[in-house]
Amino acid sequence: MLVVMKKGASQEEIDRVVAAIEARGFTARPIPGGDRTAIGVLNNRGDTDTSPFLVLPGVKDVIRVTRPYKLVSRETQAQDSVFDVGGVQIGGGALTLVAGPCAIESEDQALRTAHAVKRAGAQMFRGGAFKPRTSPYSFQGMEDAGLRILEKVRRETGMPVVSEAVDHEVFDRVEEAADVVQIGTRNMQNFTLLKRAGRSGKPVLLKRGMSATLDEWLMAAEYIMAGGNHRVILCERGVRTFVRHSRNTLDLSAVPVVRRESHLPVFVDPSHASGRRDQVIPLSRAAVAVGAHGLLVEVHHAPEEALSDGAQSLHPEEFEALCGQIRKIFEASRTP
Ligand code: PEP
Ligand code: MN
Repeated sequence: MLVVMKKGASQEEIDRVVAAIEARGFTARPIPGGDRTAIGVLNNRGDTDTSPFLVLPGVKDVIRVTRPYKLVSRETQAQDSVFDVGGVQIGGGALTLVAGPCAIESEDQALRTAHAVKRAGAQMFRGGAFKPRTSPYSFQGMEDAGLRILEKVRRETGMPVVSEAVDHEVFDRVEEAADVVQIGTRNMQNFTLLKRAGRSGKPVLLKRGMSATLDEWLMAAEYIMAGGNHRVILCERGVRTFVRHSRNTLDLSAVPVVRRESHLPVFVDPSHASGRRDQVIPLSRAAVAVGAHGLLVEVHHAPEEALSDGAQSLHPEEFEALCGQIRKIFEASRTP
């Protein structure tokens, strides 16, 4: 349920509604909007009586939210979520390009790649310091030394950085160093991690689980928002299917559906979706055409030497070509 306040409702009136919600044993989540505040009512079961809230001063309307995900839903917030990360706009009318290596491997590798992607047109840098690898014998990431390198990349290039927190234990350290904390596909339903992300002051990029339905994905985002963190970026990265021609199957149809269901920004990761460099540019073009708000692309200054995901990492000049192509598609696809 959602209590919508009148334009110009006072803080006192908002506080009174919050108190009335809590007095019934429910949880109140104020959602400040452009011109009015709404207050989400959580933890209420079944058919809650709306009349005690409707009569309170400053209340315009009480709306029943029919979806299982509440705060994430467009029923709760009709307009797109838009936020700023270190001067970079996420969501709404912006197209945000995030690029960088799968893993931070050395200062030289990270800085060379970062300067190259920035020159090409990326606004943010990605790079894992903690890597979730299928094999325990594969490179696991530079860990804290990798986080220090990410901080240096931000200082030297001015780009905000995205990096993954693979578990609850490392979350604090990643959160401190990164501008956006990534939760990977394997962790999409790690509920304790999602709750921790909900308490974070940093935006969270939530990958879709490789076998997750859209409802499950949106419910995972709901965990983060229910914890009080409203800055969530959804990222489609391909799902498991029977095909052999790519690592996963990029579910592009998820983008318009999620955009209809949710106000949150939706990014696409064509690199993990395909696993192959030759598919990354065509899939990026398609992702932008169907309405993605951003791309998360793996780029390495020398992919042949990469310690992880070299086969899907673009050379810097390929990323530059991608940037040139998608800007035009972006303009065309957003023109009514
Ligand atoms: C990544 O982006 O580095 C990554 C591991 O992605 P995913 O969780 O989508 O596999
Ligand atoms: Mn990778």
